[in-house]
Amino acid sequence: MSFSQFQSFQPIAAIATTSGALQRLQPLCQRLDATLWIPNTLHPLPGTQVYSGSLAEHLATLWSSHRALIFGLASGAVVRLIAPLLQHKSSDPAVVVVDQTGKFVISLCGGHQGGADQLTRLVAHQLTATAIITGAANALGLPAVDLLGVPFGWRRGPGDWTEVSAAIARGERVNVLQEAGSALWQHSLPPGHPFDFVPNTEAKFRISISYQPQLNPAISDTAQVQWFPRVLWLGIGCERNTPKALIEKAIEQVLQQYNLAEAAIAGIATLDIKGDEPGLVELCQAQHWPLRTFPSEVLRQIEVPNPSEVVAAEVGTPSVAEAAALQAAGVQTLLVSKQIYRDDLPTSQISNRIGQAVTVAISQAEREYTGRTGQLLLVGTGPGELDQITPAAQTAIVQADVVIGYSLYLELIAPLLHPGQIVESYPITQERQRAERAIDLAQWGLTVAVVSSGDCGIYGMAGLVFEQLRTRGWDGKTPAVQVFPGISALQSAASRVGAPLMHDFCAISLSDLLTPLEVIEKRLIAAAQADFVCILYNPRSRTRTEQLHTAKRIFLEARSGNTAVAIVRSAYRPDEEITLTTLEHFNPDTVDMLTTVLIGNQSTGIYENWMITPRGYLGIP
Ligand code: SAH
Repeated sequence: MSFSQFQSFQPIAAIATTSGALQRLQPLCQRLDATLWIPNTLHPLPGTQVYSGSLAEHLATLWSSHRALIFGLASGAVVRLIAPLLQHKSSDPAVVVVDQTGKFVISLCGGHQGGADQLTRLVAHQLTATAIITGAANALGLPAVDLLGVPFGWRRGPGDWTEVSAAIARGERVNVLQEAGSALWQHSLPPGHPFDFVPNTEAKFRISISYQPQLNPAISDTAQVQWFPRVLWLGIGCERNTPKALIEKAIEQVLQQYNLAEAAIAGIATLDIKGDEPGLVELCQAQHWPLRTFPSEVLRQIEVPNPSEVVAAEVGTPSVAEAAALQAAGVQTLLVSKQIYRDDLPTSQISNRIGQAVTVAISQAEREYTGRTGQLLLVGTGPGELDQITPAAQTAIVQADVVIGYSLYLELIAPLLHPGQIVESYPITQERQRAERAIDLAQWGLTVAVVSSGDCGIYGMAGLVFEQLRTRGWDGKTPAVQVFPGISALQSAASRVGAPLMHDFCAISLSDLLTPLEVIEKRLIAAAQADFVCILYNPRSRTRTEQLHTAKRIFLEARSGNTAVAIVRSAYRPDEEITLTTLEHFNPDTVDMLTTVLIGNQSTGIYENWMITPRGYLGIP
C-alpha cells in the first residue's frame, strides 16, 4: 500500500546498485509506490525493475519523467551522475540519498522547490533514520522563502530567489510586504527571525506577497521575490461559443490595465448555464482554474454597480460577471467593475465575428484559493516518548502543514516538528475550538494533523472531529480523513507493570464533564460485578476528587480487598511513577489526572513487583 503522504512526490524512482542497498530500499519502495531500478547483476525482488547499459544513460531517461529520485548509492557517485542533468531548482526533481547503513537520509538536491527536504524527512521516518538537511533556512529554524506559500497554494512569481535566500542565510533583514493571502506563516516564526513587516522603501531585500506584479523590478536596487496568493475571482459573461482565445484576450487586457497578476487568479465564476461553455471550460482546464457557476436566482440577489436590463431579460439576472465575481469571492465590493471587451482578433481565429464580446469583473477574496484538497490527520502520539509513536504517525506529523494540539503534547513531540510548519497549541479545555480550527483549515485545503496523546480515538480528539464534520454535512471524503492509532494509556500503563490486561478488560473514564455521574457509577458497578480488569482514565483532578473514592467503594463491594491495583503516573515520561498496591490499601488521594489506575480481576496477582492476570493456560492459580 502506498501512503498518501508520498503522493505529491509521485512518480518516484529509486536506484540500488548493491544487494545491501536493494534489501534496504525494496520495502521502502513498496510502501512509497516507487519503482526500484537495479542493474542486471543483481537478483530482482518483487517490485524491482532491471536496467541494462550504464546507469548514467538510464538516469537520463528517469530524470525528466520523475518528481523524485532516491539513491542507495554513495553521495559522491550520485553527484557525478546527476551533474550533467541538473538544470534549475525550479524544475529538477528531488534527489535523496540513503546511506549504506540506512542510518542517514540526505537531501542532496532540489531541497526546496523539488521537495527533497520534505521527502528526506518522510523517508527518514520510514527508515527510523536521521534526516540530513543542509539548507540554511532549515538550520535557522525558518521556512524556506521559496516554499513559504506552498501550503496556501500561492504561485511563485519572478524574482531574485537565490539572492533573497542567501541574504536570509547571512542573517540580513528582509522586508515583507504582504497585501494579500494568509498571514498564518508569520505566526510560527522563531524569535529573532529576519523578517520585518513595516513597509520600507530602502530595504535591500524584499518578499512581496500580493496580487499585483511589482512594476519595473529591474530599475530597483532591491533584490525581490514575489508570491501571488490566488485571491482574484474573475466573473465572466460571454455569448455562446465565444472562443477561448477571445476570453483569454479579454482577461489579459483587464489584468494589464489594472496591474493584476495572472498568477493571482483563483478561478472563474459565471452563470450556471455557462458551465459547459466550451471556451470557458477549455480555458479553465488549461490554466487549472476552477469554474464556479451560480444559478440566476442567486446572482440576481446580489447588488452590483452595473446592472443591465437587457441581460436580465435574457438570462434572468441583471448581472453575470459582477454578481458571479462577488459571489465566488464572498465579498461585497468589486476590485474591477464590469469591463466589456470586444474582439479584434484576426477573422481566421473566430468563426462568427458578429457580436462577440466578453464581460469581465474582478473581486478579491479575503481567503486565497489553495487549489488543494485538505486532509485531516488524526494522530495518536502515545504516552509521551518519541519512541512510542508509530512511524506512520510520525510521518503524518512531519507531512502536516499545520499541527494542532494541547500544548503539553505538542511539547512532547517538538523534535518531530520542522521549520515552516504552522503549530497551534491550545489549552487542555479547548477541544472544540481545536477540532473546529482543524476542520476549517482542512476544508480550506491544508494538511492538518490533530494530535492527541495515547490513541486519538480513545478519549481523544478523533471522535470530536468526526462529530463536528458530520454536523457540517461532510460527504465522508473531502477533506480526506486518516486516523493514525497510538499506544493508549491502558497499554502503556499495563506494559510498565507487567501483563494485567491478559483477560477481558474494560476502560472507564471517571470524568463527569461529558458523562453524568450516574452513568459512570452504573458502568463501574457493571464492570466490577462482571469481573473485568478495569482501567480508570481521568481518575481525579484538582477539583474532582470524589469519583475515585466511589470507584474504590464499588469495587470493594464486588471484589476482595486483596485485588491487585496499579497506579501508573506519567508512563514513559521523565516524571513516571508506578505504585503497586491492593484495593483495600489503595489511597485515591495520591492520584492525579496524569495517572491511570488499573484494577485487577479476581485472579490478577502481584508477583515480584509485576502485575499479572492469568489467561488460564496453566489452569486457575
Ligand atoms: N487519548 C488518551 C487518553 C486521554 S484522557 C489515550 O489513549 O491514552 C487523559 C487520561 O489518560 C489521563 O487522565 C490519564 O488517565 C491517561 N493518561 C494519558 N497519558 C498517560 C500517561 N502517560 N501515563 C498515565 N496515564 C496517562
